[in-house]
Amino acid sequence: MATIAFIGLGNMGGPMAANLVKAGHTVKGFDLSEASRKAAAATGVVEAARLDEAIGGADVVITMLPAGTHVVSVWTELGKLVPSGTLMIDSSTIDVASANRAHAIAAEHGWISVDAPVSGGTGGAAAGTLTFMVGGTSQAFAKAEPILAQMGKRIIHCGDAGTGQMAKVCNNMILGISMAGVCEAFVLAEKLGLSHQALFDVASTSSGQCWSLNTYCPVPGPVPTSPANNGYKPGFAAALMLKDLRLSQEASMAAGAATPLGALATQLYGLFANEGHGGEDFSAIINFIRGQAAK
Ligand code: NAD
Repeated sequence: MATIAFIGLGNMGGPMAANLVKAGHTVKGFDLSEASRKAAAATGVVEAARLDEAIGGADVVITMLPAGTHVVSVWTELGKLVPSGTLMIDSSTIDVASANRAHAIAAEHGWISVDAPVSGGTGGAAAGTLTFMVGGTSQAFAKAEPILAQMGKRIIHCGDAGTGQMAKVCNNMILGISMAGVCEAFVLAEKLGLSHQALFDVASTSSGQCWSLNTYCPVPGPVPTSPANNGYKPGFAAALMLKDLRLSQEASMAAGAATPLGALATQLYGLFANEGHGGEDFSAIINFIRGQAAK
């Protein structure tokens, strides 16, 4: 069993750290927020009041932080604290350039590093069923996989450093576009006089099927577990969807790729968040689209 330092014990990091404790590891956790530290301590994480306290004696360091700037600054600070040969895993969703910067910091210090963002949300984090998309050398992947398998169900090696974040950004661009498309179809059905259930029964078993429709249906009724049945409480907040869509647009600009639907979805979620709905589930974009139709 390993000693693991877990930095960033928020909505995702908290339950992920708890699963590592359940698997029998010693997990030392640090977060800037005292409330997050206390919540993690209640699940068996050893609370560290400072970053250096969490790091002492750790074989593995995992970061689960909001954005690239947090990851680069924490990994830079860790430079003085973490010995060479330590396995470093960043599971935050961040821009590819920051992920590459983190790998470069790791190389300077002789660490073994992977970028390993996740899909599956807070439910998947709690249940230990996340999908991890991993970028790094085969040697780094082989070391990280058994640890990640204690927090997730599918661990996919995407390629070299940075490719985990590339996969994440592409996946979530599909998600943002597909959710907007499914919402438009329901709004059109309403205007035409077709029931939600009839559209669902047809499209969810036909060529319109996708995760946004079949598993996360944006209208109440057809899929009882979707946030639409719970006042659009997230789930996956629209503000996080917007963050990921913006990352997709940064990536496509840098790579010279044409992603016109990704650009439109980014605009749509930007308008929705500007109207004060960033804290709602991302499927609530249907209310915004319906409102446009009524204007
Ligand atoms: P969160 O805001 O709940 O947690 C982030 C935590 O990091 C906070 O508790 C914050 O206090 C802490 N933090 C910030 N800077 C710190 C620092 N310098 N040192 C220590 N702690 C620090 O966010 P979350 O929902 O847990 O998401 C974390 C990452 O996972 C994000 O990159 C997000 O995009 C990604 N993600 C989230 C979801 C989701 O459904 N919430 C799904 C997939 C991926």
